[in-house]
Amino acid sequence: MEPIKVLEVKGLSKQYKKGVYASEKVTFDVKKGEIFALIGPNGAGKTTTIRMIATLLQATEGDALVAGYSILTDPDKVRRNITYLPDEAGAYKNMTGRSYLKFMAELYADNKEQAEEYAAEGCRMCELGDRLDDKISSYSRGMQRKLLLARAIMSKPVLAILDEPTSGLDIINALEIRRMIKNLAAEGMSFLISSHNMLEIEYVSDRVGIIAKGHLLETGKPSELLEKYDTKNLEEVFEKAVNAQ
Ligand code: ATP
Repeated sequence: MEPIKVLEVKGLSKQYKKGVYASEKVTFDVKKGEIFALIGPNGAGKTTTIRMIATLLQATEGDALVAGYSILTDPDKVRRNITYLPDEAGAYKNMTGRSYLKFMAELYADNKEQAEEYAAEGCRMCELGDRLDDKISSYSRGMQRKLLLARAIMSKPVLAILDEPTSGLDIINALEIRRMIKNLAAEGMSFLISSHNMLEIEYVSDRVGIIAKGHLLETGKPSELLEKYDTKNLEEVFEKAVNAQ
């Protein structure tokens, strides 16, 4: 049986200025339980692409379906199936971690019971223990990122879209976040991740899409791409893919 496609991106393009494409005819899909990473250097078009999928930015051309719903014609239903963690997300610093998760759970849930369920799940997922009752202003960057990630995934969305989920984190915190993502994918959640850290993405993702200057140059499993380009890491794959363009 064919795996279920949770996300189908079909020829998605964005021109901020007429004639200048930030992303051009980007096409890929993400399957249930899959971690798909869009990788590319600064300015490649990763954020533009994922913001269109997250219905935060209007596409110039093309479409994307999330759980079968079009970002163009059914954006509300798309939003009910996704969660988006921006690169530079912030939390309310004067709240404690626990009250922040409760507050956000009440925003996302359909009823009180569900809100309590989400908040409890968020508190468990962030692994902050007793520090959950401290103010967020006292958290390290890694603790804040774990809290924000827990906020993004506590409602168990069909697709979690994470922009640079481990940016600015030390190795231990980055490893913990990658482990959280992998565990959730094993339970069936799908992930679309963007990163310019190609080495880390080799570890976390099932498949990658290499994007440069708005063009998706390659998609495949990291191991397939390493073999195809006869290289030892994705950075070298990237270099060869760009040169072959
Ligand atoms: P980074 O890794 O630095 O976050 P990125 O791959 O996410 O980069 P984008 O932010 O999508 O790249 O940018 C793609 C291109 O679109 C860049 O040339 C950028 O300057 C341009 N761009 C992004 N946002 C806007 C905007 N609001 N108006 C005009 N141009 C923009």
